[in-house]
Amino acid sequence: MTLTDLTIAQACAGLREKKFSARALTEAHLAAIETLNPQLNAFITVTPDLALAQADEADRALRDGKAGALAGIPLAIKDLFCTAGVRTTAASRILENFVPPYESTVTAKLRAAGAVFLGKANLDEFAMGSSNMTSAFGPVTNPWRRAGDEAALVPGGSSGGSAAAVAARLALGATGTDTGGSIRQPASFCGIVGMKPTYGRCSRYGIIAFASSLDQAGPMARTVEDCAILLGAMAGFDPKDSTSADRPVPNFAAACGEGVEGLKIGFVSGLPIPNMPGADADADVIARMLDDADKWLCRDDDGATRVDVTLPRLQHALPTYYIIAPAEASSNLARYDGVRFGRRADGADLIEMYERTRAEGFGDEVKRRILIGTYVLSAGYYDAYYLRAQKIRRLIYEDFRKAFETCDVIVLPTAPTVAFAQNEKIEDPRLMYLNDIYTVPVNLAGLPAISVPVTVTPDHAAGGGLPLGLQVIGRPFEEEKVFAVAAAIEKAAGFSARPALRAGAAR
Ligand code: GLN
Repeated sequence: MTLTDLTIAQACAGLREKKFSARALTEAHLAAIETLNPQLNAFITVTPDLALAQADEADRALRDGKAGALAGIPLAIKDLFCTAGVRTTAASRILENFVPPYESTVTAKLRAAGAVFLGKANLDEFAMGSSNMTSAFGPVTNPWRRAGDEAALVPGGSSGGSAAAVAARLALGATGTDTGGSIRQPASFCGIVGMKPTYGRCSRYGIIAFASSLDQAGPMARTVEDCAILLGAMAGFDPKDSTSADRPVPNFAAACGEGVEGLKIGFVSGLPIPNMPGADADADVIARMLDDADKWLCRDDDGATRVDVTLPRLQHALPTYYIIAPAEASSNLARYDGVRFGRRADGADLIEMYERTRAEGFGDEVKRRILIGTYVLSAGYYDAYYLRAQKIRRLIYEDFRKAFETCDVIVLPTAPTVAFAQNEKIEDPRLMYLNDIYTVPVNLAGLPAISVPVTVTPDHAAGGGLPLGLQVIGRPFEEEKVFAVAAAIEKAAGFSARPALRAGAAR
């Protein structure tokens, strides 16, 4: 048995049946990290001593019959979650040496469930990006390769380190955050499952803020059930986050086995989204993927029913997001001024100290967002940009609300293309932002959504041999239906391809 190939569900069972210890499971993953992280750069910080101590603690709890739901399960934590006593960088130079004195609620809950933390996963700086190219700690390499081509590809972003670590079998699962697609798009690029819950389902306390009205934590793993198990431990009301929802946490894992009978599945008319040149490079494969989903889910006997829906304002989601997200980011990032924590540069006076600290500490993409955000919030332009974007955000939500009057879930592609090569789109931010056309509408509306890997592009196509995910979107707080439909898609799709670079694979 290769321990690094197990699902979380299998590992939980194996630990309880004493087939292997939590220490052995953690050691297998630490060894995989040692071998592959130099190539992948999926982790910014690895914490082997801490991980082994946590594994020993899990073994004791398992022995004493006091084990939590995730006892002994080795995870990667996106380096945007504050971890008490362990450096937390947000992949930024400005927080290069920041050691938080407190723990985020999501990671505290995972620890309380007995999870083992292997280390902190790489990301785009402050979670701004779709490629992981903006990290101050260097890019992450996607463990997948194009057929017949050794070019290093991006893992997607911003949770690219988390996605690469899970795909390459360096961790059984990971945490991610998703402001405009940062869990789902890297999941699609790396052939794994990623789930963004309803806004408010997981506490934002202790997660370094990007755009507070959009940010949401969620799980990344290799199966739908594993994501459901992780979310069960991560979710729940937190008085420390005023936008956290005071609702019971359902049994998400049980929902995975519920099937789709009686459900109405919404297929969106008018795809690909018009007026987005170059966005749907893999349009043929995506069209086939949606046809397959229809066949898999909407069978005559015990299947779901197909409903055609429209989301007329889908094409306005991207420009709306790229006003609202930078606006909130410019406000959130004002706190990094060199005074209270993080990096500080010398200056002749206070203003020069601020200027130098921020000039040295932030990378180009973060600076671009701060500039855009400050502009759209400024006195003369607030009404023209920010206020208007807020109104369109509401209309996009209304589109979804109307569509959900006739269906239970909506399927969409996760991303318009497969993984691209490193450095390919980094020079043109507009091209980079197009990655997010199918994911940002969901954040603007605050809905739950999952990306499930369903296919690999044909070998002969440019960029062939790479995974593609399908997105399932639900009504607010109806994650259970999202998991049920995603599990049905996963079963029918039978996605079994594996990346070239992974633990245990000979290279
Ligand atoms: N790619 C999007 C952006 O750059 C989304 C990032 C995210 O979800 N954190 O803003």
